[in-house]
Amino acid sequence: MSIHRTHGVVLRTRKMRESSKIVILFTRDYGKISVVARGSLKPKSKFGSSLELFTRSAIIFYKKENRDLHTLSHSEILSPYKQLKRDVVKVAYASVIGEMVERLLPAEQPNRSLYNLLTETLKQIDLANRTQLEVVLSSYELKLLRLIGYGPHLASCVRCGRQVNQGAWFGLISGGLLCRACHDRDLNSVGLSNKALELLRELEAESIASVRERHSSDQYSREVSNLLNSFVRSQVGETAKIKSLDFLERIRDVSYQ
Ligand SMILES: [Zn+2]
Repeated sequence: MSIHRTHGVVLRTRKMRESSKIVILFTRDYGKISVVARGSLKPKSKFGSSLELFTRSAIIFYKKENRDLHTLSHSEILSPYKQLKRDVVKVAYASVIGEMVERLLPAEQPNRSLYNLLTETLKQIDLANRTQLEVVLSSYELKLLRLIGYGPHLASCVRCGRQVNQGAWFGLISGGLLCRACHDRDLNSVGLSNKALELLRELEAESIASVRERHSSDQYSREVSNLLNSFVRSQVGETAKIKSLDFLERIRDVSYQ
């Protein structure tokens, strides 16, 4: 057994026996790990509120070799993301973000870039108003797909390489833009408005903070959001159905009021 210190974000928890819980975290140095937090459900637990969903904490845990469940000994809040936790719509968005990390990444595979993306996205959700949440999620999805090797090809037609700036299509199977001549060679292609293509390229090039400050929800952000959600489902959905995405799509139409 060895002792380790790192930072991590709580992705999911579940009760274990009377007073303990199992916590799944995405950590800076060890990737996704599962730990037992003994006594964490007792009223005066030493863990306090550091194991609430989406909290980012500094942790110390004991790692058991050849086991996939370790023991948490200490946890201290670094980022509570209070505004996020107070808003049920923000929680729905954060659930999609957390579930994607949990389902798409294998256990205990370190990925510092992904950890940074996760914490930056939670910070931006915390800061956002409700009309900015859609572009924050789209920006995250695009960056996440890129990091895990499923990033769509947006520079030119993915089949023939021709420049596409107007009248573009997006091939969900081909994995990127298609020109007019190539679009019917992908059985699952969707037409893309020029504004949506512009936004897609901006999401790719800019930071999440920058797109959040510049964009509110409109028909183009919705078009991009629907496209990216379909793309996530077509690329990875078979093996990892993102349940919280279905829930989010049901509630988001009433969420801007
Ligand atoms: Zn083409």
